[in-house]
Amino acid sequence: MGKNMPKKEEIRVRIAPSPSGYLHIGTARTALFNYLFAKSQGGKFVLRIEDTDLERSDEKFTKEIIESLHWLGIDYDEGPDIDGPYGPYRQSERLETYKKYLEQLLKEDKAYYCFCTEEELETEREAMMKRGEPPVYSGRCANLNEAEIKKFLDEGRKPVIRFRMPAKKIIFEDMIKGVLEFDTKLIGDITIAKNLETPLYNFAVVIDDETMKISHVIRGEDHISNTPKQIAMILALGFPTPKYGHIPLTLAPDRTKLSKRHGATAIADYRAMGYLSEALLNFIVFMGWNPKTDQEFFTKNELIKHFSIANMNKAAAIFNIEKLNWLNGQYIRKMDLSELTEECIPHLEKTNLIGRVGDGEWKITATDEPIIFDQLKKIIALEQERLVKLNDLSELVSFLFKRELTYDKQLLIWKKMTAQDVINHLSETEKILAKTDKKDFEKEHLEEKIKKLIEEKKLGMGETLWPLRVALTGLKASPPPFDVAEILGKDKTLQRIANAKSLLEA
Ligand code: GLU
Repeated sequence: MGKNMPKKEEIRVRIAPSPSGYLHIGTARTALFNYLFAKSQGGKFVLRIEDTDLERSDEKFTKEIIESLHWLGIDYDEGPDIDGPYGPYRQSERLETYKKYLEQLLKEDKAYYCFCTEEELETEREAMMKRGEPPVYSGRCANLNEAEIKKFLDEGRKPVIRFRMPAKKIIFEDMIKGVLEFDTKLIGDITIAKNLETPLYNFAVVIDDETMKISHVIRGEDHISNTPKQIAMILALGFPTPKYGHIPLTLAPDRTKLSKRHGATAIADYRAMGYLSEALLNFIVFMGWNPKTDQEFFTKNELIKHFSIANMNKAAAIFNIEKLNWLNGQYIRKMDLSELTEECIPHLEKTNLIGRVGDGEWKITATDEPIIFDQLKKIIALEQERLVKLNDLSELVSFLFKRELTYDKQLLIWKKMTAQDVINHLSETEKILAKTDKKDFEKEHLEEKIKKLIEEKKLGMGETLWPLRVALTGLKASPPPFDVAEILGKDKTLQRIANAKSLLEA
């Protein structure tokens, strides 16, 4: 390469969430596309916290945003907790920088103090709307002389800072939406700071993107109308303009903006419900990107390899919870059993079916008996084929953790059997099981023995297995009795059969 070749511009992207709420699924999606864009091209991804609105910002949300991003595996290279060359990464710690540029704009007369009150502005807006004009600022304070300024100050008015918007067409090529054109006359002189210490979003973002050397701004389509405002300021400040890409929104199935009324919107809620991060990541990426192949599941590295912004959808994505449920189920099926067990244990603990007593040691809450990882693994194996999300698990397996089952004795009765028939059948299996060694109490062996019994004594499959299964589970639908018997162990299995018999005798 020749000495004078310009250095290739480094790709640097960012997300800039405000810590006024949990990480929203839409923000996570924006984060993922930024991350993939950067990683697929050897660039850097930055997390910047937009906390200038101190009243609405809360440190607990910053923590939560960071935690949710880590959980999803959307790893940023620089951020509040990962120092980099362009920090600090919280706006509240960058006030000096904003002030410097505000002063510059004021000095160059590219910004001015505006003393209009809210009421005055409102009256102005109403009058413009009545005349059928767009409600832009009239420019009343754009050219105040010193005497006028003094008068306002004497009245105790607190001025804001407005940007002197040059009248021009702003045209840019959006990476997703194509060429976009805006007329700044329809924007007017916007407020960019409440005062020198309190910048507002559009201004702070321009300064941050420049001082953090952001090369590409990829964000939600809801910010499109901000882009010409930001470009106008960038030009006034003599900064290079980053490239922009606006991602179509995610809509609820009723095609309105996705909000709490449609269900959970926070990543933390999906995590608590027992969605796996890989499933959620795949779900999110497909809301906006199309691999142009039939591949349905992508690891993070595969996403990085295949991602291209050219394959981003131009139309809004629809949030489809069934799709997410399906994906999550698929990931559960494919997961290594030990790993799945690790993921499930917190859910069993949360519902108090088990309690942790030490490292790798638990006890069953209802009975105080110890239970080890391998036993938990067997329980999870029972449900791996049908579980949709991890927090459904406790309800499905709670029968295994109970001291005593409560169910309607009618449930024990298979088809036209009488109560006495059922007692007789249970007694037959009981005898066989009682004779089985504790160490042979495992499902294949039990299945073989009981099926042999059914055949020899012509007991009937349904007649034998249904009452046995209900005796062990108390449920209409459950995993097979042999699997359950193995998990319960000999003593509990026999105890539950005895209980079922006495229930029928009563
Ligand atoms: N705080 C803004 C948001 O979360 C950032 C927008 C931007 O990326 O410029 O929507």
